Amino acid sequence: MDTDVLVVGAGPTGMTLANELLLAGVSTVLVDKLAQRGDLSKAGGVQSRTLEALDQRGLLEPLLATGDHPVTTGHFAGVPLPLHSNRHRLPWRSVPQVVIEGFFEQHLAAHGLHARRDHELVGLAQDDDGVTAAFANGATLRSRYLVAADGAHSTVRSLLRAEFPGQPGTVTITSADVRLGGAVPSTSHTWSEDGHWAALFPLGTDPQGRQLRRLVLGGPDRSLPREVPVTEDEIRDGLSTVFGTRVHLLELRYARRITNASRQVERYRHGRVFLAGDAAHVHLPLSAQGMNTGMQDALNLGWKLGAAVHGWAPKNLLDTYHAERHPAGAAVLRNVRAQSLLMDWAGTRDPDVLAAREIFTALAQLPEVQQHLADLTSGMSVRYPMPGTETHPLVGRPAPDLDLGPARLHELLRSGHGVLLDPADTFATVAGAWSDRVDRVGQGADTEPMLIRPDGYVCWAGADDLEPALNRWFGEPR
Ligand SMILES: Cc1cc2nc3c(=O)[nH]c(=O)nc-3n(C[C@H](O)[C@H](O)[C@H](O)COP(=O)(O)OP(=O)(O)OC[C@H]3O[C@@H](n4cnc5c(N)ncnc54)[C@H](O)[C@@H]3O)c2cc1C
Repeated sequence: MDTDVLVVGAGPTGMTLANELLLAGVSTVLVDKLAQRGDLSKAGGVQSRTLEALDQRGLLEPLLATGDHPVTTGHFAGVPLPLHSNRHRLPWRSVPQVVIEGFFEQHLAAHGLHARRDHELVGLAQDDDGVTAAFANGATLRSRYLVAADGAHSTVRSLLRAEFPGQPGTVTITSADVRLGGAVPSTSHTWSEDGHWAALFPLGTDPQGRQLRRLVLGGPDRSLPREVPVTEDEIRDGLSTVFGTRVHLLELRYARRITNASRQVERYRHGRVFLAGDAAHVHLPLSAQGMNTGMQDALNLGWKLGAAVHGWAPKNLLDTYHAERHPAGAAVLRNVRAQSLLMDWAGTRDPDVLAAREIFTALAQLPEVQQHLADLTSGMSVRYPMPGTETHPLVGRPAPDLDLGPARLHELLRSGHGVLLDPADTFATVAGAWSDRVDRVGQGADTEPMLIRPDGYVCWAGADDLEPALNRWFGEPR
């Protein structure tokens, strides 16, 4: 083997995974077809669950120190969710994808992991022991596992002939990074009577301290083929259709067309090859979920591959990647479809849709509804299917960030190990056999007993049957 894991694609998914593999002590090669990292802006927002996960790796503070990354309110179908910023410990932040990629690139490099660029994967073959990858530059590489993090047009997915069912793109809208002048509204979505709409999100400030914004424009006659370049005139026209003379364009930095294609691979695992991020699921960028979902895929898979490489992975651990992340991805696709319908994304002005939207907008003023929607879009409502979910409300969910006295629970996860909270020192003997994989926190933890996986999800809680849970998630004891 040349390496344990080959990660194809150095976008946010691939780099998050590479970092998890680094933490797990697994040899990793990260490749990308591009000669250098792109500077095009895509995702602009990081959700609560992703922020938590970054905190669990000690990366949140340094990431936020890279610039001005304000907390912003979220939305569902264009209806602002004011409670979003109060609901979770770490509310949604504006952090552009380019910043996240640059941050991870530097962090990985500081730990000796440099992406091999100009490495376009063009072929792969797998057997019982590993995967052989071939690159356009003539190189080949043999690894025990391969992860496709090569984006929406994944080559690996095509080479696997993996089914990618769903809805093809039928309409496009325009997404642009801009500086605006005039009376720019604070609300994120504005509709005009004829079905045109504009959405605005803060993107922080440029080095000169000037406010940057993501502007998204849609409407009945705005759907042009993706290949047609977006012009400044088109952006100006879109702004004046929705805002009249109130808002004007000062600078257009970057623009692209995006489609409403919505697809998800049927299987996230193909033998020794795994699909993650946009390679596994594509959908409209509504409520800032695509990059976040990909990073969560990586966090789910990383420690499991580490366990497999180190030889302690319980039978079927690698299969739980599909079992857990496929439903999570499907739920994102469903909420995005509901949003695109309710916000009349295509600008149809269909009276049925407008009537449904009117009722939805009224419902979305209710705190319970806002909380539900905020949980849904922030990744916080994800509950992985696993034994124990039927008997304990915490099992399968992200671990609460408990204050354990000397440290917060999330800080303890920085080791990349599992954590056992054992307040009455009941389980010291049984857990001792797993002490190379699970850190036990004994007396002083003012909580009920709980076992947390390295990715921050509770996999057991209560008082009974700890040993089967340790076996199920952390394999045979030493
Ligand atoms: C306008 C817009 C706004 C968005 N806003 C948000 C948002 O606010 N929040 C959010 O969470 N998401 C958002 N998204 C979605 C987000 O950008 C994607 O979900 C995210 O980029 C997916 O990351 P990834 O690493 O899976 O794939 P990518 O970012 O596409 O990275 C894939 C990498 O693989 C490389 N690659 C491809 N093929 C090969 C090959 N054959 N060999 C080697 N390397 C290869 C590519 O060069 C690339 O670097 C937005 C998307 C768009 C277009």
